[in-house]
Amino acid sequence: MIEPGATIGIIGGGQLGRMLALAAASMGYRVHVFAPEAELPAGDVAADVTRASYADTAALDGFAAAVDVVTFEFENIDTAAIARVAARVPVYPSAKSLEVAQDRVAEKRFVEALGGQPAAWAAVDSLADLDAAIALLGCPSVLKTRRLGYDGKGQARLTTPGDAAAAWAAIGGQPAILEAWVDFSHEFSVLLARGQDGEVVTWAVPHNSHQGGILDTSRVPAPPEIAVHSAAATALAIRVAEALEHVGVLTLEFFATPEGPRFNEMAPRVHNSGHWTIEGARASQFENHIRAVCGLPLGSTELTAPEVLMKNLLGEDVHDWQRLLADRRAHLHLYGKSEIKPGRKMGHVTWL
Ligand code: AMP
Repeated sequence: MIEPGATIGIIGGGQLGRMLALAAASMGYRVHVFAPEAELPAGDVAADVTRASYADTAALDGFAAAVDVVTFEFENIDTAAIARVAARVPVYPSAKSLEVAQDRVAEKRFVEALGGQPAAWAAVDSLADLDAAIALLGCPSVLKTRRLGYDGKGQARLTTPGDAAAAWAAIGGQPAILEAWVDFSHEFSVLLARGQDGEVVTWAVPHNSHQGGILDTSRVPAPPEIAVHSAAATALAIRVAEALEHVGVLTLEFFATPEGPRFNEMAPRVHNSGHWTIEGARASQFENHIRAVCGLPLGSTELTAPEVLMKNLLGEDVHDWQRLLADRRAHLHLYGKSEIKPGRKMGHVTWL
């Protein structure tokens, strides 16, 4: 057990790291953030920061020597860097969770082997593969890079087979997958936390609305079109967590269809669709992640209100902060980012 007073290392310096650090601090831990960027939303609320490249082995060694346990807030980190740190200090979740979640092919195969059903898909390593995949899956479909995609980035939609060359060029001609377009009614996610002793807790399943591939709102309780799928989707997520021996929060995203839940993707970490848990659940995703990586018992995920709504503040939306504060019931979260870009996650607001 890593006891309060110890130092938790967090790899990655964005808003997820910031909210993890705040949860850690409220339980008496110190936080040390490792990230390369000049501006670090997580670094602003941490006791220590190592600002270095993820390829800087000396900096990684120094970081590992300065902390008692390590976790990460983003999954697109080289597994070699994680292995280097893990040779010196415990890292949760483990490299196995990272390896599976970093690669869309590995992720889909892993989930299929456990009984999950993604959209029909095919691996694509060349334009010729793409033509063959279109012949198999048809259009509309979506081409996604195998690695490093997020918030709809690294994706190109195909409406006709004639779009193949343009889509292949749009994603930079990298290893990819083609996915059949899913005619879904709703999107939702399953959030769970698994402790070092194997205990699993799950939160209520939120209904997620996206705009332009980016999360806009999450709400609980979910409507009946989602509720009918939540038991099966949650059971699948628990099987995935157990098969990975995952420690910490794990998120699986799904499409609700009349044929059942279709698995979209997973994140081996806290997730934007769980921000509502800060006020909307007795223990938030951030608190339970910290509890799990420190080997503490997990907190209750019970709702604190009958209805919860979280809305992201993207880009220029951040200017609404004064108007939002005029609503005394709005819980405002700003991430301290100075540069406003379209679609950039600047903050969020939650109503119970
Ligand atoms: P992703 O980054 O893969 O989660 O994709 C971002 C968003 O694009 C999803 O949340 C969906 O709204 C949409 N999307 C991705 N893949 C598909 C698909 N196969 N069918 C329909 N919509 C999709």
